[in-house]
Amino acid sequence: MRPIIPDYLAEALGDVEPDTSGEPAAYIPELAAADPERLAAAFATVDGRVYGAGDVDVPFTIQSISKPFAYALALADRGFDPVLAKVGVEPSGEAFNEISLESGTGRPLNPMINAGAITVHSLVGAGNPGPAERVERVVHGLSAFADRRLAVDEEVCASEMEHAHRNLAIAHMLRSHDVLTEDARGVVDGYTRQCSVLVTTRDLAMMAATLANHGVNPLSGEQVVPKPVVRQVLSVMFSCGMYDAAGDWATQVGIPAKSGVAGGLIGALPGRIGIATFSPRLDRHGNSVRGVSLFERFSSDMGLHVMEVPSPGRATVRSNHVVGSGPDALRVLELQGGIDFAGAEHVVREIMETAPPETRVAIDLTRVHAIDDVARRMVLEVARRLTLDDHEVHLVDPETILPDPDPGDGGRVTVVRDVDGLGLPSA
Ligand code: GLN
Repeated sequence: MRPIIPDYLAEALGDVEPDTSGEPAAYIPELAAADPERLAAAFATVDGRVYGAGDVDVPFTIQSISKPFAYALALADRGFDPVLAKVGVEPSGEAFNEISLESGTGRPLNPMINAGAITVHSLVGAGNPGPAERVERVVHGLSAFADRRLAVDEEVCASEMEHAHRNLAIAHMLRSHDVLTEDARGVVDGYTRQCSVLVTTRDLAMMAATLANHGVNPLSGEQVVPKPVVRQVLSVMFSCGMYDAAGDWATQVGIPAKSGVAGGLIGALPGRIGIATFSPRLDRHGNSVRGVSLFERFSSDMGLHVMEVPSPGRATVRSNHVVGSGPDALRVLELQGGIDFAGAEHVVREIMETAPPETRVAIDLTRVHAIDDVARRMVLEVARRLTLDDHEVHLVDPETILPDPDPGDGGRVTVVRDVDGLGLPSA
């Protein structure tokens, strides 16, 4: 059988191929010379499977797609406060290379525009690394996201540095506000090296999948950056990743994303998938024309908009029934799926509304594959209140999905591996 997803990706590429509008970035001569017909798309799942079509193994420079990853590294290396003190998280609604800083503080508005990204570059690395050590930390960190040793394209880097007047102007402004505290040119040089790291569409999909997978690279299993850092990075990508097109993107595509002027584009859908596309012609915002079309299509074909997640709530209570009769009767609430706040609210409501007359109540977690912290606390609180109302509460938990279930404060639960372990009265 022909594989379904690569066929779908190839068809999507075929549909956008005739669109030759836009221009490759001209302000970096090496990029202007790139083949504008290159076209690729790849999906990487959070368990490490990559599907691709087109030029997925053709290398190009990462450019601004390095920004969210460098931001992640700075947050991981320094902690949130020192980074937030220097770079804000507000969408700027301006072009990526706008020479603008927050009035009063001189802080760049966010880490996705160049002013913010140049500052973030200066914050990567614990302690106070020198410029070369810092670049090495960036390249090493980006490589961990990709699970492959990446390298800098020296030609593209030199070509951009020769024309980096704008970024130098931004850096000097940052220096004059003491947002940068070291030699402005050195920082721009390091930032330009960061932007010149070579990646393929396949690499970018895997890097995005690492963000989608709570910071754990799906192939190596390495926790590249902590979970709270990933939440911060994805939030900023959602509001600022597409520069002055961020609002259109958020409403129409709805996937945390980042574009680069070499033509790359990534999207990371939390808990689900990493996506990357490559096509060098850019629109007036500096985003890949065909890349934007592909993402619009992927989002609508596959229901990937983050605001469109199916509610797990309704389906959490699989059944609510009684086994046996008389004083030994057992009330069983069979739960299923992944349980979060909305799901736990249904469990709580179901129990409140049932107000079980039976003394014995079993909460059956056999079909539950995950339960988050708030849901765990809510289920245990229900168990505690049931105990206080003179119920005997059992938790059926064969796979220890809810370890050490201590409802505290007068609550008591007995854990069993299966419902049969409850010595059921024969019905
Ligand atoms: N290196 C590029 C610059 O700073 C990155 C810009 C981008 O990809 N949008 O101008």
